[in-house]
Parts: sequence; C-alpha cells; structure tokens
Amino acid sequence: RVLVGTKVDETHANWVTAYNMLTGIRVAVSRTNAKLDRQLTDADFDVKQKSTFDIAGNELVPSAKYDFKFKDYAPWVFRHLRALFRLDPADYLMSLTGKYILSELGSPGKSGSFFYFSRDYKYIIKTIHHAEHKFLRKILKDYYQHVTNNPNTLLSQFYGLHRVKMPYGKKIHFVVMNNLFPPHRDIHQTFDLKGSTIGRDYKEEELANNPRATLKDLNWLRRKRHLELGIQKKKMFLEQLQKDVRLLQRLHIMDYSLLIGIHDLQRGNEENLRDKTLRVFNPGGNGVPEDENPHSVLMRTPSKLENQRKARELRQMIQTEKPVPMGQTSSRMPDELEEGQNRAGFVFNQDDGGFRATHEDNAPGDEIYYLGVIDCLTHYGMIKKIEHFWKGLSSDRTQISALPPHEYGERFINFINGVTMSQEEALREAQEKDAA
Ligand code: ATP
Ligand code: CA
Ligand code: CA
Repeated sequence: RVLVGTKVDETHANWVTAYNMLTGIRVAVSRTNAKLDRQLTDADFDVKQKSTFDIAGNELVPSAKYDFKFKDYAPWVFRHLRALFRLDPADYLMSLTGKYILSELGSPGKSGSFFYFSRDYKYIIKTIHHAEHKFLRKILKDYYQHVTNNPNTLLSQFYGLHRVKMPYGKKIHFVVMNNLFPPHRDIHQTFDLKGSTIGRDYKEEELANNPRATLKDLNWLRRKRHLELGIQKKKMFLEQLQKDVRLLQRLHIMDYSLLIGIHDLQRGNEENLRDKTLRVFNPGGNGVPEDENPHSVLMRTPSKLENQRKARELRQMIQTEKPVPMGQTSSRMPDELEEGQNRAGFVFNQDDGGFRATHEDNAPGDEIYYLGVIDCLTHYGMIKKIEHFWKGLSSDRTQISALPPHEYGERFINFINGVTMSQEEALREAQEKDAA
C-alpha cells in the first residue's frame, strides 16, 4: 500500500497558512533575486524584511487573497546559499508556487513541526519552533562558512527562513530545505539513525500495515544492515560526516540523525512507472494510510506545458523586479527547464541523485542511498538538560538520546563508522567474530 501526503487545497485546514507561506516566499525571493548580485556583508546575516499583504496590494507588495504579515530573514544570505547549492532561481520559485501547491505530511515527529512538500517533491517546508528559529539565526554565519568550505556537506541545506503571521493568529516560523529523497525513484526502505538504542525501535509488527515507515537504530542492527560502501566512497562519506559533526559539536547541537533512504535497484521503480503521481513516504510511521485518509489525494505531476508557462512567468518576474500576478503570461519565449537535475555535481548525489553502494573494489552494488543529516537545529539547552537528568536516573547514561553535544557527536560518528562497510568487509568482520 502506497502512502501519500495530503494535498493542501482550499478545503484543507491549513490552506490559508500554506497559501500565505508560498505567497510570501514568491514575493520575497523574487524581490531579492531581481537585484544585481553582490557580496555579502556582516549586516546581511541580521536582516529581517517585513511585508504586509492585503487584498489591495501596493507598489512593493502585490495583492493577496488574505491579510497577513510576512518576514523574510537574511534574504541575501539565503540567496547565496541557494546559489552555492546550485538551485536555479526560477526553478525554485516554480516548485514552490502554482495551483496544486503542496502536500502536507502532517506532523510526523514528536516535536509538533509540520512538513510540507513542494508539488514537485524537491523541497520541504518545515515549521520550526521559535527557539529553533532564533538558534538558526544565531548560527547562520557559521553554517554559511561551513557550507562555503564544504559544498558537499551532508547537513540539511537551508534555502530560506521565514515567518508568517495572520490576523489574530500566532507567529509561524518555517524553513525551506532540500528533500533528501528523489522525486523519480522509489525509496524501498528508510532509516533514521542517531547512534542511540534507547527508544530507537520501530515496532516490527506494525511494519506490515505501514511498509514505508521510517525505521530506527535497533531495526537497523536487527537486520545486520550496513551502509555498503567500498574503500573510496567510504572514505569520502565518513570524512564529510566527520567535518559536519565537528561543526554541530562546536555549535552545541544534538538530537540530529542520519536519514537514509534506500533504493533497491533489483526491485527498481515499480510505482513510479505505474503512475505519474507524486508519492510521499511516511516519516514518523504514524501517518494515515491512503485509503483511510479523507484528505488524501494522489498529486498529479504538472505537465511539461504547465511547467514551461510557469517558468516563463517566473523568469519574467525575476527579471522585471515587479511582481507579475499569477496566471498572467508574458510574450517571452520559455527556456526549457531541466527536470530534477539541480543536484548534479555533488559527491553524494552523483549516482542518479544519490550515492550508489559499492563493493570493496569499487564495483557498483545493488542499492542507491539517498542520505543526509537532518533535524540539526536543536541546541543543547535547558530542555535537554532536564531530559538528561531524568532519563539519566534510570538508564545507561551513554544510551539515552539527550547526551551533551560532544558526546552525542562522538556516539553518532562511532555508530555510523561501525556500520559503514562493503559486503566483503562485513563478511570478514562476521567471520572474525565467529572465530573469536
Ligand atoms: P523530532 O524532533 O521528534 O525528531 P521533528 O519534527 O524535528 O521530530 P525531523 O526529525 O526533522 O522532525 O523529521 C522527521 C521525519 O521527517 C524524518 O525521520 C524523515 O523521515 C522526514 N524528513 C525530515 N527531513 C527530511 C528531509 N530533508 N528529506 C526527507 N525526509 C525528511
Ligand atoms: Ca528527529
Ligand atoms: Ca526535532
């Protein structure tokens, strides 16, 4: 049974919020991208740009369906980040705008954050807590430096940080980031690994009802799984992971995980070939199966023609600085958009958008991994210290998930180190264990 996200349309409870988020992004991003590029200054990291939307609109802000306020944080920094991650500005806007806008994944984690996929599945909008928002702003310069020095970082790629506020509503902060999983490949199994074993078990008996659930550390170990990388790729992967974790440790971040989506080349792409609709995997494992979900709609992939029309509008919007109302076409010829190619050129996206398993001698294996470090905005602050204290009373101290950042990072690296090896290496290790 295939699980999908919930399409957010006019009848959806979060329609207005989603609409406002996207309208805000469209206007803010096109405004920044319309200007001539320039170097960043220190001040760019602290900028907040506020817009007020209403039905009437004005010279700076086009009319919108609903009244709301929008804040765009550090717009120039994120413009540069998008460029570093090689996103095409028009493509970015096109993905995040349009009629069938988003599908909602609801709130998969314990944190209460909501996840939305752009309609082409390339981007994820995650609502974040105020504390995470403040923290991201605080570390933005370090993050920017790190990404500049490590374009192949495995850390979440942040493309924008924004806030919407509706009349009488509360402030909603959100980030736009990369979806680690590809639009064009089935992900047959997903793991979210922290290197901890306490509470890190997805109930195996529920897997039958929910075959796409995100599995955890204990499920991984139970299956004797490995991230099958031969000597070369293993080195590249672990070196980058090491560098990324050093940054997280230095910034006192913890609670992050390595998300791994596995595409099995033997099984191939059954579902994507069968229909041209977008699917959504089910992160927290507590999503509602499609046929039990009243809101669930399989999302249609926009046609090439639709894409071209939209790209034309958006390119024009960026070129003229003045927002073009949606639906209005221009007389310019469209540029052909390359579909789904914006991850080309990155080490961990080199094989069909992912990182293909290899044998010890570098011969290609049977799986493609789509991976990255996610949920990396939790500062080891008060809450975690309290959690640590309570859990520390009852459990093995090294196994609880809320360790101080340095220890958390060491445990994380050790775990991933220990499970990254080619089939051949794993076999030898098992034999050595048996012999001992
Ligand atoms: P918690 O704090 O309880 O872990 P959270 O709300 O902070 O939850 P995350 O840990 O960021 O949520 O993500 C929850 C799940 O959503 C992940 O296990 C994964 O399945 C999916 N997910 C998150 N980020 C991405 C991403 N960038 N690409 C693909 N899937 C993602
Ligand atoms: Ca998490
Ligand atoms: Ca979290």
